[in-house]
Amino acid sequence: MTYSEKLWQEANALLPGGVNSPVRAFRGVGGTPFFTQRAKGSRLWDVDGNEYIDYVLSWGPMILGHAHPKVMQAVIDAAREGTSFGTPNPREIRLARLVCEAFPGIQKVRFVNSGTEATMSAIRLARGFTKRDKIVKFEGCYHGHADSLLVKAGSGAATFDVPDSAGVPADFARNTLTLPLNDLAALDTVNWSEIAGVIIEPVPANMGLIPLRLEFLQKLRKVTQNAGALLIMDEVMSGFRVAKGGAQELYGVTGDLTTLGKIIGGGLPVGAFGGRADVMDHLAPLGAVYQAGTLSGNPLAMAAGVATLEQLFAGDSYRTLEQKTATLCDEWKKIVPGYHTRVGSKFCSFFTNTPVVDYATAKTSDTKRYGVFFHQMLKHGVYLAPSQFEVGFMSLAHTTEDIEATLRAAREAIKAL
Ligand SMILES: *Cc1c(COP(=O)(O)O)cnc(C)c1O
Repeated sequence: MTYSEKLWQEANALLPGGVNSPVRAFRGVGGTPFFTQRAKGSRLWDVDGNEYIDYVLSWGPMILGHAHPKVMQAVIDAAREGTSFGTPNPREIRLARLVCEAFPGIQKVRFVNSGTEATMSAIRLARGFTKRDKIVKFEGCYHGHADSLLVKAGSGAATFDVPDSAGVPADFARNTLTLPLNDLAALDTVNWSEIAGVIIEPVPANMGLIPLRLEFLQKLRKVTQNAGALLIMDEVMSGFRVAKGGAQELYGVTGDLTTLGKIIGGGLPVGAFGGRADVMDHLAPLGAVYQAGTLSGNPLAMAAGVATLEQLFAGDSYRTLEQKTATLCDEWKKIVPGYHTRVGSKFCSFFTNTPVVDYATAKTSDTKRYGVFFHQMLKHGVYLAPSQFEVGFMSLAHTTEDIEATLRAAREAIKAL
């Protein structure tokens, strides 16, 4: 028995399903998950000493690679000054300035502790601001696990085929309308004047990666604007990932509110939501929409975020990421059969011959075949997402040698299919 297998037995006795977040349990691909001992740059090492080239990157945050020296130093320096104060601290302003400068649509921002808190709070704010109850989301998009957003959801909910979670009262779900993605005609079926807000992943990447049609996003902006419904861009994953200003910079469409997470915490627990000042000023203590957090604006998290963004903005990071990912994916497409998508440094291979444009077509993927491929890749030293319905991420730490080793592994792995 490996040490990971032994720990897995212990974990299952103490943690439901052995994990603290479902997709980590490898149920999407079968087998036993490995326990990570440490990580550095593009690499993970498990407790048995196996080394992996990592394309999961803690599900997106580690865009500089793991344990970047500048980020580590910033966290250590901050920790020496105390780990939480419960008062305003200067690092909150530094991170807020970096966020507001990168996103022209964000005039004011509030920090929270996860992406889930960000989207949940943004929805409450949209409802409080518009004095309307109903919200719209899109099938297969994942916005964290708040009640009203766990309706036809992606990520683990898609992996386990429970897009509508038990425990969400029907009365809550009734106020969440769901529409198919990329379907312009479906936007005309909604009575927008009763909608508080619509939340969308502008780079949908929680049912695998499905690029949005630009005219779909543009039409969504128009119909919401005309009806006074708020457009909430959920950039928890795409923010600082697909461009400095996220998908909104990439596509030239600006939301009223934006939610952020993952990269802005540099690997510590952070989320944020921000947007138009006239909307944000409806939050307590200025306005009537309540929102709070004991550890919000935590100095360690702010320090990791500031160090990550400063490093990311320093060089030609986005062009470098684009080039590295294109180099990998252009070859990969020739090796791995399937339908391939990529936006910047996010990529995905659906194990299907059907072009994937929405949740229904994503579900045509052969998840068993993906599971076989995943384990072959792992055996050859490459860690991909343990589910067909998640995506791959490139970091600035991945080298040409990493990419070549990954392609060699893929050539071996497909022999088992
Ligand atoms: C990861 C993610 C979330 C949830 O963030 P957590 O920090 O896991 O709560 C929300 N929206 C999107 C688009 C995400 O990718």
